Amino acid sequence: MSPTTNLQHDQAGAIVTRFAPSPTGLLHIGHAYSAMFAAAAAQKAEGCFLLRIEDIDTGRCRPAFETAIFEDLEWLGLRWETPVRRQSDHISDYAAALENLQRADLLYPCFCTRKDLRREADASVSAPHGPDGSVYPGTCRNLTAPAREARIAGGASYALRLDMKKSLRRLDRDQSKEPLTFFDQVRGRITVDLHGCGDVVLARKDIDTSYHLAVVVDDAFQGVTLVTRGEDLLHATHVHRVLQKLLNFPEPTYHHHPLLRDSSGERFAKRTSGATLASLRKGGAAASDIHAMIRLP
Ligand code: GLU
Repeated sequence: MSPTTNLQHDQAGAIVTRFAPSPTGLLHIGHAYSAMFAAAAAQKAEGCFLLRIEDIDTGRCRPAFETAIFEDLEWLGLRWETPVRRQSDHISDYAAALENLQRADLLYPCFCTRKDLRREADASVSAPHGPDGSVYPGTCRNLTAPAREARIAGGASYALRLDMKKSLRRLDRDQSKEPLTFFDQVRGRITVDLHGCGDVVLARKDIDTSYHLAVVVDDAFQGVTLVTRGEDLLHATHVHRVLQKLLNFPEPTYHHHPLLRDSSGERFAKRTSGATLASLRKGGAAASDIHAMIRLP
């Protein structure tokens, strides 16, 4: 699978950044910071700024929140390239990437329920924490092929997980042991460390993809060269580099910025309704007030 034929932006050398919100709630001031950060990075480099709607989680996403994203960002004075990519329109791209990994025998079905996962995490006091919560202990990795087939034939629902050990062995072989790295504009070159990542889910039981897979496919297909996002997603970048390498996608540069915090040091979250852009606007704030509050570096 090669994204090169699908690039949304392919001007040689142009910086392409993106803001990729999920319409699961109203944007807050922390989102405004992320969006303005990405837009400013593109503007400084005379590059392109993209907006992407990350709406694969159909149970949690709402059209009203998507409408609000556009309203809020326009109010802030941001402008982005069109068409806007909406993940729910590109499930076939994620399926093709999965197929590729499946053919390379790097995926396995996981039948564990949330309850199973919680029980296992509770039982192991020292269970390491990864990008998706407790690291998966690998229960279904060792099921035999007939056991898997029997469960699937019996109608059991399953997620698809990346066999991380197998994937790393594959990469070691292909790269003659050159360590896999990524470049963060704040932290410098970082060696990918997957201790504590475990076998991440690439297709959920309820959705034929996952955050990790969709984001990697989209960034490649849209020609994103500079991924700017909050430092809470730094651990996910280790997983994303592995996926990029396995799928033969280009390596973007990263900038994981600090998260904006309120006066008590708490990070802004969707539930802090007082800090939503919609509520600030209704309370009489002007876009210039938000720009002044945020103070981009
Ligand atoms: N959709 C993610 C979020 O709203 C951001 C993904 C990313 O920037 O990689 O947190």
